[in-house]
Amino acid sequence: MKLQRIALIVFVGLAFAFAGDRIPDYWNLMIGSAFTENHAYPVLQKICDRAGGRLTGTVQNEKAQDILIGELKALGLNAKREYFEIPGWVRGDDDVRMLEPTERKLRAVALGYVQKTPGFQAQVVFGFSGQKKILDSLNIKNKIVLIGYERPEKGQRPLRAQVIRFAADKGAKAVLFINRKIGGLCLAGTSSFQGDPAPIPAFSITKEEGLWLKRLVTSGQKVVVQMTVRSYCKPVKTSNIVLTLPGKVKDKIVLGAHFDSWDLGQGSIDNGLGTAILFDVARLIARYHPNNYYTLEFVWFNGEELGLWGSKKYVARHQNESILAMINMDMTGRVTGFDAMGFDEFVPLFKELVPKLTGFNLTQAVTNKPWTNSDHAPFMLQGIPVITTNAHLDKDQVNYYHSFGDTFDKVRPDYLAQSAAVISILASELANRPQMHLRRHSKKQIKQMLEHFGLDRILKSENEWPF
Ligand SMILES: [Zn+2]
Repeated sequence: MKLQRIALIVFVGLAFAFAGDRIPDYWNLMIGSAFTENHAYPVLQKICDRAGGRLTGTVQNEKAQDILIGELKALGLNAKREYFEIPGWVRGDDDVRMLEPTERKLRAVALGYVQKTPGFQAQVVFGFSGQKKILDSLNIKNKIVLIGYERPEKGQRPLRAQVIRFAADKGAKAVLFINRKIGGLCLAGTSSFQGDPAPIPAFSITKEEGLWLKRLVTSGQKVVVQMTVRSYCKPVKTSNIVLTLPGKVKDKIVLGAHFDSWDLGQGSIDNGLGTAILFDVARLIARYHPNNYYTLEFVWFNGEELGLWGSKKYVARHQNESILAMINMDMTGRVTGFDAMGFDEFVPLFKELVPKLTGFNLTQAVTNKPWTNSDHAPFMLQGIPVITTNAHLDKDQVNYYHSFGDTFDKVRPDYLAQSAAVISILASELANRPQMHLRRHSKKQIKQMLEHFGLDRILKSENEWPF
């Protein structure tokens, strides 16, 4: 009797302790299904192995879109394409070859928007980190400028797009950027965030060959390189993939991830991860919590790598709609917390969610610091509050960023499952809290916020500062 009574008191006490924050059943269903029926991993495998690297405008990109739309359809989810045209770029069989002091074809990767250029030869000069002041002080006319990866002793390291402009202005023939990472890796990337053709050819070369060239040049030996560029710029028609889950009201929360990738590897980490997590979040919410207050829109953006084209086009096309928040997934590893990105209104929700997700070990619980250069940026610049997650990636998952080794073998199904579970909970909570009074911020507020966090300098150097 006595024992039973004690047990009853303990039980009632516990029930009261948890009554305030009882975990809704659908949370547990979503978490369970994310781990046991995980769709993110096999869908990503299909995209990576059957289509591959998804540079916007390529057949691989189109093929992967078909796979994704087909997989959604198999779940009864009808996604549509939203078409748009952008300045595109096609990688050709470029040839960069040392002729003096010895002949060797260099491993070189053209930056996006580099244009077709008939073969030419030129002497190589070392341009340090490519600051304007340094390039102005050197004789680089008709030369190929070799740029190191070291940080300059004074001032900021310019972006590759800026270095190309500085070098072209001084009459240089081309630029070679030495990659920072060891192991024969090149670093793909765009040469213009606005899709302008590069004024002169620009390539990423490996650290090993780059340091060899630098040793020769800086010790006074003559180095001649021959270059033939077959890559070229071309307008392309492409599309974002959009899946809408209508809510009680038309005001929406957008969940986004870029779908395109560079072409060197399979784009499995950047951004196969976000692509696949978004897929499973759509599946989990559609299945376990389809009726929400706000409309949820899942968007797979195209053209991110060439200059955030898909998200820019989406924001422009939907500018008259009420978009209350955007959650972005880019190279999302195992989620370790939430980032309010300078939008303080999200912090109380995050602080409420983290202690309810104890088993997920969210060690970077709540941060509030914005960053740029992914698809949330066009939303943020329009005053739409954005959210990203803090996340952990293993060393070999990050190491091959924009390079040959970004392949499916590095993807971890447990990380995908964990992230899909956490982000499904975040999104479904956000979609049912009209009391949060989410709203767009004014241009003035956004400008101040970005300046406060020092993002104005980066955006200005990319010609992406709209204020
Ligand atoms: Zn990315």
